Amino acid sequence: MFNKRTKIKELLAQEPAGQEVTVMGWVRTFRNNQFMAINDGSTNNNLQVVLELGKFDDDTLKRITTSASVKVKGKAVPSLGKGQKMDLTAETLEILGDSDAEKYPLQPKKHSLEFLREIAHLRFRTNTFGAVFRVRHALAFAIHKFFNDKGFVYMHTPIITASDAEGAGEMFRVSTLPFDNPPRNEDGSINFKEDFFGRSTNLTVSGQLEGELGATAFGEIYTFGPTFRAENSNTARHLAEFWMIEPEVAFNDLEDNADLAEEFIKYLIRYAMEHNREDLDFLAQRLAEEEKQLPQDKRSEMGLIEKLEFVLNNDFERITYTEAIDILLQSPAYKKKKFAYDVKWGIDMQSEHERYLVEKHFKKPVIVTNYPAAIKAFYMRMNDDANPELGHGPTVAAMDILAPGIGEIVGGSQREERLDRLEERMKEMHVPVEELWWYLDTRRFGTVPHSGFGLGFERMVQFVTGMGNIRDVIAFPRTPGSAEF
Ligand code: ATP
Ligand code: MN
Repeated sequence: MFNKRTKIKELLAQEPAGQEVTVMGWVRTFRNNQFMAINDGSTNNNLQVVLELGKFDDDTLKRITTSASVKVKGKAVPSLGKGQKMDLTAETLEILGDSDAEKYPLQPKKHSLEFLREIAHLRFRTNTFGAVFRVRHALAFAIHKFFNDKGFVYMHTPIITASDAEGAGEMFRVSTLPFDNPPRNEDGSINFKEDFFGRSTNLTVSGQLEGELGATAFGEIYTFGPTFRAENSNTARHLAEFWMIEPEVAFNDLEDNADLAEEFIKYLIRYAMEHNREDLDFLAQRLAEEEKQLPQDKRSEMGLIEKLEFVLNNDFERITYTEAIDILLQSPAYKKKKFAYDVKWGIDMQSEHERYLVEKHFKKPVIVTNYPAAIKAFYMRMNDDANPELGHGPTVAAMDILAPGIGEIVGGSQREERLDRLEERMKEMHVPVEELWWYLDTRRFGTVPHSGFGLGFERMVQFVTGMGNIRDVIAFPRTPGSAEF
């Protein structure tokens, strides 16, 4: 059969004892008309295929170019060369697909990540992206395993939504109305009654509100799907299309929520360490080389593996927002006016403040809880702790998890389960109470304390792989001004 092949990863795990195998893959390098390194994506390690001189005709040899696809039948034998324990001595060789060496954009040399982003359709064929995307896959699998083993129900929340309750102004509109001549109301505004869904709709920014409906029936649910934000943030940690994991748990308070998030993040790291060690070792080395280019004070104190082990072996720091502000106010950075943005109770902490807390002060992941109500969403549970004397307004039972090198990786909260408090807050914040009748029904019929959070999948992949730019951990990044491929 055409597909009876042995994967290179499996083959390299065997002892070379003359066993006959068929291997298929893409040529990485070809030296001296004799040594062909091929890769099939199952591992970063190439298989060295040895072509006996004179055994294959010149026409075939000429067609062995970088990224040509080949099928080789041969015997696995101990390698005479350094750097690998096994060679495959070729008995038959078939070129499956030619690759024009003049035109192929990936040469067997180092390319910059920026250049590779421009050829994202081919970058999987590099060692770096091979490793990143195998780790991404493993993490996605581990997410389902973690929640499945705990008895959570995986819930598919809608991608197209009519609720504009959250993130107003940051949504992508979904419409089939003609752009050039949309139907209009008498006052000139667009008549969405004539649109596909009979109302204005958007791509979802979060599955949370629907997730809460599931949690208040199944007890524990999680979502894992694409989310969309039309925010114009051209940073190394923002995408317009990203994947989010959102567990929602009935009967959990804020502390249970933080416990779940910490256990979850550690589980994912441990899973990758146990199943993807080879790829992580490669990425650790890549990062170390990249950091050599930086001035001493910009380099990380720990290597990638060390960092991951450190996170596994230590509790996350837990502080309140008020404590975080105090730490910032006492910091040398603040006193020496090193922060670009002001620090005082009530601010929405900027990334420089978050980075100071995790990277300089605590040097580990930090869970910050109880943020000012004024800067957080309407559904977060109100604490009764306003302190007018100190100029502190009330806080809500929110939590953000901040990670070294990434900043915010998780955002979550205990939800407001008291109908009267929730409605009051929605009115204050001009959230349409009537439109969210279905959401409020959970508070009308057997309401319970419940909590949940959102973990940005790509930020988690960044953390585990050490990749500095979020565009390099998703196959085809969507960012302002860019939707190629
Ligand atoms: P940030 O302040 O970093 O923009 P946020 O407060 O908007 O984040 P949430 O709305 O709480 O984030 O979303 C939950 C999680 O989703 C975040 O903690 C983060 O991991 C991830 N996330 C949010 N926005 C983006 C984005 N544009 N691209 C990638 N991941 C994101
Ligand atoms: Mn944001």
